Amino acid sequence: MEITLASPLQPDSIVDGEGIRTVVWTQGCKHHCKGCHNECTWDFNGGFKTTTEKINSELDKLTGQQGITLSGGDPLFQPEACTLIAKHAKEIGLDVWCYTGFTFEALLKNEKALDLLKYVDVLVDGPFILKEKSYNVDFRGSRNQRVIDVPKSLEEKRAIVIPKYKDERIVTNKIYRPQNVYI
Ligand code: SF4
Repeated sequence: MEITLASPLQPDSIVDGEGIRTVVWTQGCKHHCKGCHNECTWDFNGGFKTTTEKINSELDKLTGQQGITLSGGDPLFQPEACTLIAKHAKEIGLDVWCYTGFTFEALLKNEKALDLLKYVDVLVDGPFILKEKSYNVDFRGSRNQRVIDVPKSLEEKRAIVIPKYKDERIVTNKIYRPQNVYI
């Protein structure tokens, strides 16, 4: 199936979810969040066309990856193609994270989105909100975004945030000084 990507697969990312991951950068996003760091991925006529078969065979050749991350753009604007990639990733033992500007609650009402979510382990949801921007929320850009355990959330039909990502990290200016060190 055809899919439009913003760039080739990006293996070895350590910032797009837990572990070492390969990012699938999809092209196209209608959310147009103010302050988006990836405006070049908004245009649905941009990027380049490829196929899910090609992407899946590239995934087969990768080594040392914990999983894939569907990002963009917004992968939920190409749900069928992303479903084929996510399904294949799971079949070859990779876990799947997905970023979207939609909320989990909105996706629950959409059949194609639900098909994709069946193969997603973790969803980072919601638009980027500039006034909620924080550098102290892991794997997110703004405080409103949630890191959701998808299998549990589908079971309970409500968004269940992974506990360790519930709060903002507390950052202090304290400098660590080892004790009992005499110079
Ligand atoms: S959803 Fe993501 S890619 Fe789309 S505009 Fe918002 S921040 Fe940018």
